[in-house]
Amino acid sequence: MRFMDRDYDVIVIGSGAAGLAAAVAAADAGASVLVCEGDTRVGGSSRLSGGHFYAAGTSVQQEVGVEDTADAMFEHYMTLNQWLVDPAVVRKYCDLSAPTFEWLKNLGVNFPKEGVYPSGVGSTPRGHQPEGSGEEVVNVLDGHRSHKGVELVLNARVTGLITDDDGRVTGIEIGEDRATCGAVILATGGFGANPDMIEKYYPQAAATGDWRWYIGSEGAQGDGITLGESVGAVVDGHDRGLLLVTPGFSHDLEVILPPWLILVNKEGRRFTNESAPYTVLGGLIQHEGGAAWAVFDERARAAAKPSPVSQAYWVADVLQQKADEGRICRADTLEALAGQLGVNGQGLTGTIEKYNTDVAAGSDSSFFKQGTLTTITEPPFYGVEVRPAIVCWTGTGVRVNADTCVVNESERAIPGLFAAGETIGNLHGDRYIGGGGSFGPCIVFGKLAGENAARYAKSLNT
Ligand SMILES: Cc1cc2nc3c(=O)[nH]c(=O)nc-3n(C[C@H](O)[C@H](O)[C@H](O)COP(=O)(O)OP(=O)(O)OC[C@H]3O[C@@H](n4cnc5c(N)ncnc54)[C@H](O)[C@@H]3O)c2cc1C
Repeated sequence: MRFMDRDYDVIVIGSGAAGLAAAVAAADAGASVLVCEGDTRVGGSSRLSGGHFYAAGTSVQQEVGVEDTADAMFEHYMTLNQWLVDPAVVRKYCDLSAPTFEWLKNLGVNFPKEGVYPSGVGSTPRGHQPEGSGEEVVNVLDGHRSHKGVELVLNARVTGLITDDDGRVTGIEIGEDRATCGAVILATGGFGANPDMIEKYYPQAAATGDWRWYIGSEGAQGDGITLGESVGAVVDGHDRGLLLVTPGFSHDLEVILPPWLILVNKEGRRFTNESAPYTVLGGLIQHEGGAAWAVFDERARAAAKPSPVSQAYWVADVLQQKADEGRICRADTLEALAGQLGVNGQGLTGTIEKYNTDVAAGSDSSFFKQGTLTTITEPPFYGVEVRPAIVCWTGTGVRVNADTCVVNESERAIPGLFAAGETIGNLHGDRYIGGGGSFGPCIVFGKLAGENAARYAKSLNT
């Protein structure tokens, strides 16, 4: 029997990749679905995203001859994070990554074989770059949402959850308005645009002060956490997320450092291969106290040309201009540069002497940096502080079980409440698995939440 007083089987809060995948899957499972979106258009941060999908065992990997399995992905994920992640949730992501990837592909997202690449610290190519980036993924999913007759309300920021006497979530509130349902899916994204939540849940990011900026959408206010907590959800994943490295003087996004500079710590010593993947570079700088200094010479500056990965500010004229403005330190000797930067002078001169010897011998014997290495010999010398301070996504969120049910302190599922996407807090560890490691699970758990929420809501009808 159907409860006629219920407006929808499933209400999805948020229309990013996770919310749209949930809506499409719930509709496919026969549910009546409403999507509420606080913004004036669908897509959230997903629309701004590269939309890369980290997955193992896909047809596109096979096309390029990559043998890969969910088991291998799980082992890598767990090892990279020293097992400090929720194995059941990680396992589910790994197991469903390929089937969900194929589902998205079948919906019409094109993943060319040229877009398969090793997107993390491992050598297995698991990153899948879609044609048209995250925007195209959003458009494809939203097209299916609309085609399946799933209702969407824009400018509709959900402000509360309705529960019955047993604590079961039975609907949503948007100010004075209410809608009832069998199940709610939280898919509200992260909280990168909310400074108070950054302060509370992401102290590493908060510590970067006014260097910090967020590249995602304004809708990332952490509402999933607030709404979840209002009905007893546990919040997990404290101080986790992805911080990208910036010299502070530009709000352009350049994810990869050029090979012609070196990074030193407060002691003036190198501590990493400067070409380390962005997935770990921020953490390495964090380990050095949250700041490092990029050092290079006049020859490198003058030769710094735009490249596919570096176009905005690691280029000759911008570096010159920033040095003239005093945003980059410049000195005729390394000792004087060290003084300006506040790093140990003996450390810096010794480090550069060794680096120059290595470059002359043709290899970086300490950190194995590849590419064209250049000596640092020609004055003036330049140095600029860099910090991991660009918030890409946030990792704190509501805790779910492997079936996407939001759980309370007793690890019991809160009846009628599901979550997916950046709003869940127990998937990511201290280290980002690689490009596609946030967007991929948004689709995986979005689809799963849609299916499970539809099944749950329908079970109430009998
Ligand atoms: C520029 C950029 C590039 C990125 N590139 C990649 C990449 O290539 N690979 C990768 O893995 N990750 C990437 N990421 C991260 C990844 O894209 C995001 O983590 C992911 O898209 C989040 O999807 P989501 O559906 O959880 O949230 P979103 O896409 O942010 O959607 C959440 C939606 O919920 C809405 N909302 C919030 N609160 C409410 C409320 N109370 N009521 C109604 N609606 C609400 C928001 O307005 C928003 O539209 C990138 C992020 C950015 C910003």
